[in-house]
Amino acid sequence: MTNSSESLEPLSVSLSPQERFEEYLQTRGLRQTNQRKFLIDAVFQEHDHFDADELIDRLPRRGEKNYVSSATVYRTLREFVDAGLLKSFQLDGRTVYELDYGYPQHDHLYCTVCRQLIEFQSRELMSIRDDVASEKGFRVSGHRMIIQGICRACGKLRRKKRKQDLV
Ligand SMILES: [Zn+2]
Ligand SMILES: [Zn+2]
Repeated sequence: MTNSSESLEPLSVSLSPQERFEEYLQTRGLRQTNQRKFLIDAVFQEHDHFDADELIDRLPRRGEKNYVSSATVYRTLREFVDAGLLKSFQLDGRTVYELDYGYPQHDHLYCTVCRQLIEFQSRELMSIRDDVASEKGFRVSGHRMIIQGICRACGKLRRKKRKQDLV
């Protein structure tokens, strides 16, 4: 999945992702491992939307230094979500992950042609959400909005192609 080139401004957080994850492991009675450390660094290199297979493609291959098995990647991604480091959501039947820790709340436009996710923040949307919730006496813990359609670049290509087809 391609990511939009412009990421949102990161939030400042008191603990590094590594420290935050170590806290989580302690509360669960789990042990820190080199593989877990390596995967945090790999995931937190940049803000991105990815599924497990895309991450595995970027990681060292079997026999190379820092190789992590697919099963460990899948399991560790779930731990990262559980620890609040990553968020996950379903898109086209796949589980997509992105950074949550130290990254602001946002929503997405999803281009169904090039599969790009474009991030945006809207104060108006948040206030509508909160108004609707308070009307219903509902306590909000979060929301996810994905607007589907065709991005500007793909729209242009389509119009160009349609013109050519007419000639
Ligand atoms: Zn597109
Ligand atoms: Zn995002």
